[in-house]
Amino acid sequence: MLTLEHLDFDRKHIWHPYTSMIRPLPVYPVASSNGMYLTLADGRRLIDGMSSWWCAQHGYNHPELVEAAKKQLDIMPHVMFGGITHEPAVELCRELLAVLPQGLECIFLADSGSVAVEAALKMALQYWHARGEPRSRFLTVSCGYHGDTFGAMSVCDPINSMHTLYKRFLPEHIFAAAPQSRFGGVWQPEDILPFQTALEAGHHNIAAVILEPVLQGAGGMRAYHPEYLRQVKKLCDEYGILLILDEIATGFGRTGKLFACEHADVVPDIMCIGKALTGGMMTLSATITRRHVAETLCGGEAGVFMHGPTFMGNPLACAVAAANLKILKRGHWQQQVAAIEQHFQTVLPKFSAYPEVADVRIIGAVGVVETRRPVDMAAMQAFFVEQGVWIRPFGKLVYLMPPYIIQPDELKTLTDAVEQAVQRPDLFAV
Ligand SMILES: *Cc1c(COP(=O)(O)O)cnc(C)c1O
Repeated sequence: MLTLEHLDFDRKHIWHPYTSMIRPLPVYPVASSNGMYLTLADGRRLIDGMSSWWCAQHGYNHPELVEAAKKQLDIMPHVMFGGITHEPAVELCRELLAVLPQGLECIFLADSGSVAVEAALKMALQYWHARGEPRSRFLTVSCGYHGDTFGAMSVCDPINSMHTLYKRFLPEHIFAAAPQSRFGGVWQPEDILPFQTALEAGHHNIAAVILEPVLQGAGGMRAYHPEYLRQVKKLCDEYGILLILDEIATGFGRTGKLFACEHADVVPDIMCIGKALTGGMMTLSATITRRHVAETLCGGEAGVFMHGPTFMGNPLACAVAAANLKILKRGHWQQQVAAIEQHFQTVLPKFSAYPEVADVRIIGAVGVVETRRPVDMAAMQAFFVEQGVWIRPFGKLVYLMPPYIIQPDELKTLTDAVEQAVQRPDLFAV
């Protein structure tokens, strides 16, 4: 049982994501999870609006995922992947190949999203090195998010991720203005020009373009027009530059397609997946390439891909991910995501009438309310907990991405809570 003493210890000794050790914000002790609910130590139940950051897509403690983990736990929780293989890894990769966009077929298993992005960047660098034309730059757009490790951070939005702090240590890459044509809106042909100009100017030294397809996540929760992605792909092909798509947040149905690149019918050369890969139970990610990319890079000086995490291909995580893909294969997620999107479309656009609201954006099971002022995170978080919901706003973004299994009344409770919060000036920073 969690006591005040535990919370005091936590405050003194434990970092939480993006927090201060001198002015820590309150953390809420969660005792257990089940389905749509998180249960606090004091017994209060909260409806989950976050899927634990895109992960728990079928809700918490899904019986099939728990069963897969328990079964694998008795057989072999972990074994090194160097020189060894095992059934959970092969099973998972077989299931993955059946659902990945056609042409992506060489799978590198890693343990977090950021590491999958590091692997993708390294693959692109090794690819050009092997071709005898070493290149050192990546091209991306503003407002992106690709993770917190150095390589990944170097292609995140420079302002959001405070590149100034790491000046001269962080490699400097090329940023084009973020796409402006909205998802579901009208395509403006001039939208591609900044990207096109940057590519034309720098293509001799650009190893790859890296983007989040159609939905930019933590860098701003912006959904852009699929035509932008189609044009990017066309330009990459024209200049023979690799395209890396980071599907870590968007993958596995969140935007209404199994992978967001399907909105544009674009298949990248390298793709990163993570987050919902295990249905939110274990940390696992993967970087997948076309065969020619893998073969070219392995033909270079190193002769191998120079990366191998200790917990690569962890059997427990692979077994859970394989079970997750079997749940997805049944296809219920499509109706579930469509129903969530339908509710968001009916309710959220009306919030634009409130003075604190600057914009509303919806794609699949993601509903975003952008506010004019930054929220007072601690105050708004406390308000949401009082309302019986778990919603974690940041900056000027109050957003929902509930587990796909959410029921209409629970979904209404979430959107009602957001509607009330954005009408409370006291929940915003001054
Ligand atoms: C979360 C995220 C990452 C990083 O994943 P971690 O598991 O946190 O390292 C990378 N790219 C995108 C698009 C993400 O949303």
